[in-house]
Amino acid sequence: DISLKSNVHELTELDKKHFLHPLTPPKMQYEQGPPIIVSEGKGVYVKNESGDTYIDGMSMLWNVNLGHGQEELAEAAKEQMKKMAFSSSFNGYSNEPAIRLSEKIASLAPGDMNVVFFTSGGSEANDTAFKLARYYWKLKGQQDRGKVISLSRSYHGVAQGSTSATGIPEFNSIVGSQAPDYLHAEPHLLDCERGDRDNEHYHKSVRGIIEQEGAENIAAIILEPVMGAGGVFTPPEGYLQALRDLCDEKDILMITDEIICGFGRTGENFGVDNWNVTPDMLTFAKGSTSGYIPLGGVVMREKIRDEMLQSEDVLFHGFTYSGHPTSCAVALKNLEILERDNIKDNVKNMEQVFKTELQKLEDKHQHVTKTRAIGLLGAFELYKDRNKEEPFDPEVGAAFKVVDECFKRNLILRFIDWKGSNIVAIAPPLIVNKQEMEDIFKIIDEALTAFE
Ligand code: PLP
Repeated sequence: DISLKSNVHELTELDKKHFLHPLTPPKMQYEQGPPIIVSEGKGVYVKNESGDTYIDGMSMLWNVNLGHGQEELAEAAKEQMKKMAFSSSFNGYSNEPAIRLSEKIASLAPGDMNVVFFTSGGSEANDTAFKLARYYWKLKGQQDRGKVISLSRSYHGVAQGSTSATGIPEFNSIVGSQAPDYLHAEPHLLDCERGDRDNEHYHKSVRGIIEQEGAENIAAIILEPVMGAGGVFTPPEGYLQALRDLCDEKDILMITDEIICGFGRTGENFGVDNWNVTPDMLTFAKGSTSGYIPLGGVVMREKIRDEMLQSEDVLFHGFTYSGHPTSCAVALKNLEILERDNIKDNVKNMEQVFKTELQKLEDKHQHVTKTRAIGLLGAFELYKDRNKEEPFDPEVGAAFKVVDECFKRNLILRFIDWKGSNIVAIAPPLIVNKQEMEDIFKIIDEALTAFE
C-alpha cells in the first residue's frame, strides 16, 4: 500500500529531524530513524504504521498491564475530561477522582500505609519520597538525617534525587549528576544485613554503610522489591524482612519502589506483599493506570503524615498535576478492572506457564541459564559457558542479538547488558493467556536457535 509506505517514510524523516528520544543513541536515531512507529494495539498485540503486528512481551515499559486498546479506560478518561479540564489539589482544592483513588490505594497498601501523595510519574514519586523522608526527620528535630541508601544496579528514575539513587552508573555519568547524599550498597548481601562484620562485603552492605556513615545521618533506604531495569532480580528469601528489621533497629525509613511491581505485576497488590513486609513509604506509577495516562505517587504510613499534623506549616512540595482528575479517574477504572477480572489470579496462573516455558528454554538451549519469574516479571541470562558462568565477549552482544532476532519475528522484549551481563527481560501484559505465552516462547526458542 503506497499511501501507508509514504506515511511511514514521512514520519520517519520527521522523527529523525525533530524528536530527540530518551534512552536512545541520538546519532543512531538521527541517521536511521525509529525501528518501529507504534500506531495501535489490542490486548498483548501492537501494530506499527505499516500494519505489521507484534507481541508486546514487555508491556512496553513494564506498564501496559491491562493490555492495549482497553476501551473502558479510554471511556473513563473521556467521561472525566467532559466534566472538567482539571482541578488543582493545592491549598483548598480537591476533586472526587483523586479523593476516591487515594482511599482505594490506601485500601490496597499493606498495614497502616493509608496516606497518598500524587505525582505525574515514577521519578517524581521517588524524589517526593526522599523529600518527605527528610522532612519527616526535620520535623522530629533530626535535620542531619539527609542521606539515602539505595542498591547498585537499581533504577529509580531520572529526576535529581531518583537519578542519584539509581545504581546504574551511566545515568549519573552523563553529567556527573549524582548528589553526594546518595550511597549505594551491593544488592542482596543478606548475611551482611544481619551484621557479619568479618565478611569481606561488609563495607558494601547496607549495615556496613549505615555503621560507617552513622545512622543519625541517614534518612531512608530505597529498593525495588524485585529489581527491574537492573536485570530482574528477586531478593533472596528473608532479605526484605532482614532489611525491615535493620531499618527498625537503626530508625531509618524503608521505602520500596513499586513502580514496576505495583498493582499485580508480581501476582500481589505490591511487590512487598510477596514477603509480608510493610515499608514506611512505597512509590508507584506505571501500572496504576496501565500506562494509559501518566500518574505516580507515594503511599506512606500514617506516622509520616501525623508528624506534619504537629505544626501549622505548609507542605512546600507539589506538582501542578498532583491528583489530576483524569489520571485518577483512569487509575480508579484500572484498579476496578484488575479486581473485577481477577487479574491477579491470571498472573499467578500464567506465572506457572512462564516458569515451565523458561525451563524448557534452559533444557534445550545450552547458553540459557538463571531463568526466573515472579508473577509476570521474568528473565533469562545468556552465558558462553553456563556451567562455568563464562560470559560472552561483549562484542558478541548476545542479549541484544537474541532480542533482535525476536523483534525480526515480531516479538518485543528487552535486553539488559549492564557490566557485561546478557539478560533478556520478559514482562507481558497481565491479561496474557496461555496460548499467547506459548507463542512468545515459541518465538524466543526460534530466536535462540538463530542466534546459536
Ligand atoms: N522506578 C522504577 C523501578 C522504574 O522502573 C522506573 C521506570 O522505569 C522509575 C522508577 C521511573 O519512573 P518514570 O519513568 O515514570 O519517571
